[in-house]
Amino acid sequence: MIEFEIPFVCLIFTILISCVFLLKKNIDLEENYYYKNILIFTLLVNVCNFVSHYMASIFFSNSVDNWYAHVFSNINKLGSLFIVIITFNILSYIMYISFEKYRNNFTKFKIMNNILFVILGIVIFLLEFNVYKINGVTSGNGSSVIFTFICVFVNLFVAFSISLFNLKKYDKRYYAIYIIIPLLFCLGLFVMLHPEFNIYDFILSLLCYLMYFTIENPDMKMIEQLNIAKDQADKANMAKSDFLSSMSHEIRTPLNAIVGFSEAINNSNNLEEAKENAKDVITASKTLLEIVNGVLDISKIEAGKLEINNSDYNSYELFDSVTKLIKTRMDEKGLEFKISIAQDLPAILYGDHANIKKVITNLLTNACKYTEKGYVEFKVNCINNNDTCRLMISVEDTGRGIKKEHMDKLFDRFQRLEEDRNTTLEGTGLGLAITKKLLDLMGGKIVVQSVYGKGSKFTVALDQTIKSMIVDVEEKQVVEEIDLKGKRILIVDDNKLNLKVASKFLSNYNPVIETVESGFECIDKIKNGETYDLILMDDMMPKMSGVETLKELKKLDKFTMPVVALTANAVAGMREKYISDGFDDYLAKPIDKQELKRVLSNLLIVERRENIFGSLPSELYEITEEDVERINEKVIEDVVEEEVEEQSNVHNNDYLIQNGIDLNKSLELLGDIETYTETLEEFNNNINDRLKKLESLKNDLANYAIEAHALKSDSKYLGFTKLAELAYNHEMKGKENDSNYINDNYDSLINEVNNVLKIVREYLGK
Ligand code: ADP
Repeated sequence: MIEFEIPFVCLIFTILISCVFLLKKNIDLEENYYYKNILIFTLLVNVCNFVSHYMASIFFSNSVDNWYAHVFSNINKLGSLFIVIITFNILSYIMYISFEKYRNNFTKFKIMNNILFVILGIVIFLLEFNVYKINGVTSGNGSSVIFTFICVFVNLFVAFSISLFNLKKYDKRYYAIYIIIPLLFCLGLFVMLHPEFNIYDFILSLLCYLMYFTIENPDMKMIEQLNIAKDQADKANMAKSDFLSSMSHEIRTPLNAIVGFSEAINNSNNLEEAKENAKDVITASKTLLEIVNGVLDISKIEAGKLEINNSDYNSYELFDSVTKLIKTRMDEKGLEFKISIAQDLPAILYGDHANIKKVITNLLTNACKYTEKGYVEFKVNCINNNDTCRLMISVEDTGRGIKKEHMDKLFDRFQRLEEDRNTTLEGTGLGLAITKKLLDLMGGKIVVQSVYGKGSKFTVALDQTIKSMIVDVEEKQVVEEIDLKGKRILIVDDNKLNLKVASKFLSNYNPVIETVESGFECIDKIKNGETYDLILMDDMMPKMSGVETLKELKKLDKFTMPVVALTANAVAGMREKYISDGFDDYLAKPIDKQELKRVLSNLLIVERRENIFGSLPSELYEITEEDVERINEKVIEDVVEEEVEEQSNVHNNDYLIQNGIDLNKSLELLGDIETYTETLEEFNNNINDRLKKLESLKNDLANYAIEAHALKSDSKYLGFTKLAELAYNHEMKGKENDSNYINDNYDSLINEVNNVLKIVREYLGK
């Protein structure tokens, strides 16, 4: 009777706990999985133990040497496997609460564990298990038992060590593990040394019991989850109230101005005064509009309604258009605007160009707004890795800078820093909040470096998919005209023809040019006290290469002249190599005029200051496998979405582009897709009347030309390139009174209108 008494009590005990835990409503948490396993396997161990010892008490009353010894050993091997599985679950539980990587790969680890359990099971069953009786209790020994003990102790030891090293990461309720695991360890040792005390089922039941009332109590977990949800709801509610109150405050300021100035206009007797006031009304209205647009943008993003629309875009065109937009503002303020676009930037990228444009415009507008004198530098570099291009866009200014204590508020909504200094500057405090949120949506990062009083640098890292590397030379013209009068440039090259060509290119910018044919001569010149604003250095020179020459130059006292590497070896990664060799930039031979201009303007036009911001965090420019995976997934998702949408062309932008409509140009002109669609609707509604009018004016060519002009201009706005061209011809011929041309070509114009209409109606779903 003694033999199975404890197993029986433990079994009942575990059944009760299992019922309480499993029948109660649990929150669906991954960590529950381990406790559930521990509970179920404890139950199974207890069943095995009870059955085997109950039977043993009947069959082994005199000797253990009968047929049942076989059954007993197999049931006990099964029990041993379950015990090992339980300790593995304890270890997995500790890993789960300690390591984020484990949590992120929960399913993967689950599968690996299950495979391991099968292997362990096979090992345990293959090993030996001898049955014997000690002090009236049946027990076992042999390699299977030793193996089980080793697994149990190793698991418990590793679990405890991990928990010790990660103490700081744990919530207080997990502290119970510091009692539970050592207790299990000690009891395990006790059982190993005194097998006559058949209490391991008691230990496991105790484990379930302790865990249930400490870490794993479903009620406690539910309360904790409810508290988290409550905190989140409170925060959201507070944010909403904050948002509303600051929004009404922000809106009130320009509205008051509008009311005030409008009253002043109403009361003014003189036109000049009224005009002045009207100007202020316009300014205040623009600010109001900016606020409302910003609020709409941000609430759209926060409500999850802002969608990221990825499509192929021309990278050079994008950067060119943003810089052109901001250039006039920079000029008005007398700021130098430096632009530098990397040579290896892929021509066609895949991503959300409209939102990238918004991000860059926000950063450039701020740089211009908060800089009084000096320069703003817009730089686009890229790191290309197979199909992924990490755009590294930076906007650096020599403006007022940002105080350290203000940095963490920078991206908050309605946070205008240093309000007292901002009073004369328009702004809503929404720009950076929107920028950050857009980047989050696009999977990008932004880093701010700033030295108060000296300037700021905002760097954006954003992964895009490369669609084509090939660049049309004309597209690259985003570099300003430059004049290098008074600047001294030294060219070092062993090839006379190269010296001649480089000198000729450089002479376009009027610098003083000197040439030498070897690194030695260059070093001599510098040693003799000659100074240059720039040195262009060929790398492949006999006896002393460019890299070696530069090394020697750097050894000289106070050598700080910028040196640019010249090489015919124009393979990918060369820029990085030369920059890491200490060069300031790199030019491929044959020298590309635009690229030369970019380098010159970069290094010579605006006074360079030392890097006051320090280096960027490495995760910004290191492309990890996860990044590549993420971006590939994005492309696949988009392709799947496109396929789903393929049946319908309604509001399918790609459908327009595939049918020759220059949507990108239209979006540049009209701003956004909503306005485009509205204009398209209007065009579709009016076109029949307009065609009738055109037809009726065939005998009144002056007015015909006016009508054709209107059609041309609408077509241009809407991206109907061919129709715009035809309408333009009709306008010209109308003006020239060439009725023959108009009669002969009228049908082709109407045909094109019909072609366009077919596409438009398909797109509008009409
Ligand atoms: P806004 O410019 O409309 O005030 P933003 O969200 O764009 O709003 O910027 C928030 C605040 O961050 C600004 O009010 C300004 O104080 C500070 N800030 C942003 N960009 C710069 C910059 N380039 N230099 C200095 N301060 C800046």
